[in-house]
Amino acid sequence: MRGGAALALDGQAPVEADAEAPFYLPYGNEVAVFEQCHARRLAVLLKGPTGCGKTRFVEYMAWRLGRPLVTIACHDDLTANDLIGRFLIRHDSTVWQDGPLTRAVREGALCYLDEVVEARQDTVVVLHPLADHRRLLPIDKTGETVAAAPGFQLVVSYNPGYQRMLKELKPSTRQRFVALEFDFPELEREAAIIVRESGIDRATAHGLALFGKRLRALDQQGLAEVPSTRLLIAAAQLVAGGIAIAIACQVAIIAPLSDDAALVGAMQDLVAASF
Ligand code: ADP
Repeated sequence: MRGGAALALDGQAPVEADAEAPFYLPYGNEVAVFEQCHARRLAVLLKGPTGCGKTRFVEYMAWRLGRPLVTIACHDDLTANDLIGRFLIRHDSTVWQDGPLTRAVREGALCYLDEVVEARQDTVVVLHPLADHRRLLPIDKTGETVAAAPGFQLVVSYNPGYQRMLKELKPSTRQRFVALEFDFPELEREAAIIVRESGIDRATAHGLALFGKRLRALDQQGLAEVPSTRLLIAAAQLVAGGIAIAIACQVAIIAPLSDDAALVGAMQDLVAASF
């Protein structure tokens, strides 16, 4: 097994220098749990808000396990055929073309379906025989049943807070997965991620992480979407490029989050209090 590029805070294992490894800072035992799931052929569900590190974690695990990664962004027009494949007309004949899921099953890749609740129910059902002990993908159109190659692993993510009332994963789907819960990193960890991803100094990164925490508390006051680590990193990257911190916070964090004058004013006050 390859070594990790999981950078650590004080008191934890040191960073291993490896240029090709995606940078991922763990929050707990998720790396060990995922490795066990992979070894035991268990499908994994990642729960958590958008922009909190789920995709980066999967990229890191694919690298660590030495598996190819196939990522599929789910949406409500995604059909089973989009996942499995279709017949294409070429000149005077038809040829079968594998979809991304079928490719991942044949190659023994990690197949990551991002925001799986967005997909239609009849599309999600296709995953069932792959997510349990059968590890099979029946392709109705060709009559073939593909057995998943060793190394194939199904990973799905979803954001439980988003459209909570409208969209839910069915129990019959959920119960096929081991679920890992993600959330925004705590202050020091988020500051370390911001430093690493943007190159800004630690004090400014700390201020941005603090600002992010304070903004997340505003969800009680009507802020529909709280800022993700991704937004904080965008502001930090602007600062690294020479943009003043107040402007970077305005354009990369405040303006994307709200159009409401009162909320924007409250967020601007928090910028002043955080730096
Ligand atoms: P999600 O898939 O949960 O929407 P991402 O994995 O795309 O979120 O995270 C957004 C960005 O935040 C990443 O591109 C990365 O820069 C950063 N990030 C968040 N958490 C971590 C972490 N634990 N380690 C490294 N980078 C992280």
